[in-house]
Formats: sequence, C-alpha cells, structure tokens
Amino acid sequence: MSREQQAVARARKAFDTGRSKSLEYRVRQLKNLQRLFTEKQKVISDAIKKDLNKSEVGTQLYETLGLEGEISLAIKKLKEWAAPRPVGKNLMTISDSVYIKPEPLGVVLIIGAWNYPWAVTIQPLIGAIAAGNAAVVKPSEVCVHTAKVMEDLLPLYIDKELYPVVTGGVPETQELLRQRFDHIFYTGNSTVGKLIMEAAAKNLTPVTLELGGKSPCYIDKACDIAIACRRVAWGKYTNCGQTCIAPDYVLCEPSIQDRVIEEVKKSIKEFYTDNPKNCPDYGRIINQRHFKRIMNMLEDSTVAAGGDNDESDCYIAPTVLRDVKPEAKVMQEEIFGPLLPIMPVNGLDEAIKFINKGEKPLALYVFSSDDKVINRMTDETSSGGLLANDCLVHFSVNSLPFGGVATPSPSVVACRKQWYGLLPRQVQLRPAEPPARLPHQAAENGGREQHAL
Ligand code: NAD
Repeated sequence: MSREQQAVARARKAFDTGRSKSLEYRVRQLKNLQRLFTEKQKVISDAIKKDLNKSEVGTQLYETLGLEGEISLAIKKLKEWAAPRPVGKNLMTISDSVYIKPEPLGVVLIIGAWNYPWAVTIQPLIGAIAAGNAAVVKPSEVCVHTAKVMEDLLPLYIDKELYPVVTGGVPETQELLRQRFDHIFYTGNSTVGKLIMEAAAKNLTPVTLELGGKSPCYIDKACDIAIACRRVAWGKYTNCGQTCIAPDYVLCEPSIQDRVIEEVKKSIKEFYTDNPKNCPDYGRIINQRHFKRIMNMLEDSTVAAGGDNDESDCYIAPTVLRDVKPEAKVMQEEIFGPLLPIMPVNGLDEAIKFINKGEKPLALYVFSSDDKVINRMTDETSSGGLLANDCLVHFSVNSLPFGGVATPSPSVVACRKQWYGLLPRQVQLRPAEPPARLPHQAAENGGREQHAL
C-alpha cells in the first residue's frame, strides 16, 4: 500500500468508528485547531515569510484571523447547523414529521494552493470537521516551508487518524485522486481543476473547485479617482498580486488613464516606499517558474510604472501597464502577479461588453459615485462576487457566500464557501467613501480607525 492509500484507509477506518459524528468531539477538534493558531503563530508566520516574504502582520490579517473567526462561527453555530430542519408537509404527510437531517459525507480530500496556504487549506478543513467528516489534507508543495509546518503541526493538535496530512506534489496528488472519496475540495488553477473533476467523475464524487481567472475592474470617470486607485493598488499588490480575487486589469476611459496611472503610482510609493524591494510589506513571487511566467506577459505591453525585477530574488516591482490591447499577452490569462494592465474603453457599454466576452469572473469591481453605473454593472454582467467602490473586502464578510458562478454543487461539507456555492452572485454595494476598516482605508481616514478583520 502506498503512503497515500494508507492515509485514506486510516481516515476511512477512523470515520467508520463514528467518533466524528459526536458534536462534542467536533467542537473539541475545532478548539484544538484554534489552540494551534494561538500557540504556533510565530512558526506559521516564519514559514510563510520564507515562502512568500509575507510579513507577520500580513499573515495574521490575511490568513489566521479569518480562520479563527471561521472556527468561532462553526463552534457557535454547530448545534443549529447539525439539527434536523422541519420542512413543509402535504396532505399525505400532514400528521408525519418531515425534516431534513444533515449528515457527514464521509472522507473528504482537501487539495490546497500556495498563495494563502493556511487560509485555502484549513478553511475547508474547518468545514469538514464541523460537518463530522474525516478529511485528508494535501497542502500545496509549492509553498515548501508551510507544507512542512502543516505536516508537523496538525497531527499534534487534531486527530491524526481522522485528519491526516499527506504532503507531496503531482504524483502524490494523483495517487490520492485514484482513491475513493466522498467529496473533493480543490483550490488552484482551472487546468488542474479539470483533471480533478475528471478523476472525481470515476467514482461520481462531488467536487468543489475554488478556481481563479481574470477579475476585471471598471473605474468610472464619475468617482473619486484617488480613492479608487488607492484601493485598486491595495487589492492588486497585496501578496504581490498572488490573490485569486485581485483586480486583474483596469478598464477606464482614455481621458482618465493618465490620472489613474499617477494615482496608482502614488499609492505604490505610499504603501511600499520608493524601493519596494526593501520594503518588508512587499512580497515575492512564489518561485522562478511563476517569475518567468509573469515576466513573459510583459513582452508586448508598455510599462508606465515599475517593471524592475530580479530573478534571483523572485522580485517583480509593482507594475502598471498602459494602453493595453485586448490581444496583449497579459490579457490572455490570469496574471497572478503584480502587473496592473490598464485597457482604455469608450465608457460603460464597452466595458460591459468586454467583460461579458470573457469567462464569468470570480470577482468584479466597479468604482463609481453614480448608482446607475453600479446598477448597470450589477444587472448586465455575471460574476461570483461584485463589489462596488472597494477591492477584496467582500471575502471577509462571513455572512456573504464566496465562490465563482460555475461552482458545481452545494455540498454537505459544512463550509460556507460550499453551502452557498450555487447562489448566483454576491453583491456588496459600498458607498464611495465608507468608514475606514482596513489598513489602506484607515489611512484614507487619517488613520483614526483600526481594521476590523
Ligand atoms: P498549486 O500549483 O499549488 O496547485 C494546487 C494544488 O493542485 C496543489 O496541491 C498541487 O499539488 C495540485 N496539483 C498541481 N498539479 C496537479 C496535477 N497535474 N494533478 C493533480 N494535482 C495537481 O496552485 P496553483 O494552481 O498555482 O494556484 C493558483 C490558482 O489558484 C490561481 O488560479 C488562483 O486564482 C486560484 N485560487 C483560487 C482561490 C479561490 O478561493 N477561488 C484561492 C486561492 C487560489
């Protein structure tokens, strides 16, 4: 038996004992996971620093705080989630009790990506534990140090039979995919997503695919361009552009392009100083393969800001590209790096038309002080999420669903991401100048308020 087969067999055996069905047991596991984040914060952030040059604060803000919130929510809501839900009756069943009783699926496979390695791997695990499943956890091999820390730490805190960690790359993941699971939760790119779906189909295993793609951003001329650009710069360059919902490109009218460039440049300087390479808050590209992939995209575009790079350090400066054409390399696939192409369009109609020609985006951003513009973008496009007048923050709102339009099925694995996977879209309309919540917004507000993530 291979290592992967053994892990799955052990998880199945542990699930069959029925211990994960007890609500008390699930809560204990969740509390242990919470303890891991409290006790090992430094180990976690040191590893991510080595993988992506993320700062300790960045790791807390974008990885562990959200997970701790997710754990608290699951603990608080578990009884309610697990309780049978009475449903409507008909004449034939009028005197019966008719209800839906949630039950665990069985053994779940969780395949994580590297860009927010704890968030994307452990969030589905929290859901799986809460729902009473066993789960085999496969962290991304691309974030070498974090995968090792996960492999070392998880078994010290949670039931290592029910929730084994299997490390490794493509061959190991493929070996896992040859096993039978009751659900597969994959986060990563769409090409591999198709392979996952194919492998799952052999056993009719339901899947949740958390994929990426190009998330457009329309900046209307009727808006506070300085604030819009500040927020776009934050959304784009956080984690060096390696965020699934980062604004991929900007559409705006030619008349405001220069202003947009100037304002984005100002924000880059403010966030990361004149020399981002030496700024502790600016990340690195995960590895040289991705460095080369991103640099290739620059070939046929005009650099308006940034462009400096250092392969040996996987460094690419925050970069802005101007007058980008739809056929440019950078517009053909998800960038997943710190390049911000600006593609001029003649107004909202053309922007909507362009967006609708592509795949349905994971996130869509619109900046405008005109409600009509926001409403038209909302009504005439389709995307997993739409956010007006800010970037990324919809991810942090627990009461909103998250995922793309094509998420194939809601599932019994108790994770909000999946439960709401089928809802067509989330719309969070924000006023043009909301009260400060995140670091980039706090400074807009004179730094008076702290972030609330
Ligand atoms: P990656 O290279 O780490 O791959 C993801 C996982 O797939 C890894 O665990 C890896 O071992 C496995 N894998 C890779 N090739 C495989 C193969 N041939 N067969 C079987 N398994 C294989 O991560 P990535 O794909 O570079 O991740 C970045 C992508 O993920 C981007 O497109 C990003 O937008 C997307 N993403 C989406 C979300 C979301 O919530 N929607 C979150 C983060 C990242």
